[in-house]
Amino acid sequence: MSSMTRSFFKTYFLWELLQGLRLTFRNLWVRKFTVAYPEEKTPQSPRFRGLHALRRYANGEERCIACKLCEAVCPALAITIESSTGPDGTRRTSRYDIDLFKCIYCGFCEEACPVDAIVETRIHEYHMERRGENIMSKDKLLAVGDRYEAMIAADKAADARYR
Ligand code: SF4
Ligand code: SF4
Repeated sequence: MSSMTRSFFKTYFLWELLQGLRLTFRNLWVRKFTVAYPEEKTPQSPRFRGLHALRRYANGEERCIACKLCEAVCPALAITIESSTGPDGTRRTSRYDIDLFKCIYCGFCEEACPVDAIVETRIHEYHMERRGENIMSKDKLLAVGDRYEAMIAADKAADARYR
């Protein structure tokens, strides 16, 4: 049978449509994996890289020592840091901004940080409504860290067990 004849019969008998329907019927009764998000959630890895946070020590002191390693390593140039020396002689950031529109969530900043100050949390359900909300300032990053410290610490411990 020539290819033209074969093509004619395939078109005439709706062969592609029947093949599609066969696939549909074959999967009609198999177990479904659809997740009704946001009511249902899929499991998340403790290594999930979501919204950033700056952490503090248990005594409330900021972990960040303004070494700028995270800024240097960031491939997207999303981090902007300015530093100053405090009255106690310690170096601190006077400005720490992350532009979430530039960030590619690679996790390099977290990897580079020598004091576990900047981390990426498992939070992925966030959005921006106004111009400028994509900039995570130091205050906002610290607030995220304060709020989710228990989850961050648990994820860090779980992550350490994987390594
Ligand atoms: S996750 Fe990657 S791209 Fe985003 S701020 Fe950190 S280093 Fe930069
Ligand atoms: S977050 Fe970490 S790597 Fe970045 S400046 Fe602070 S101490 Fe250095």
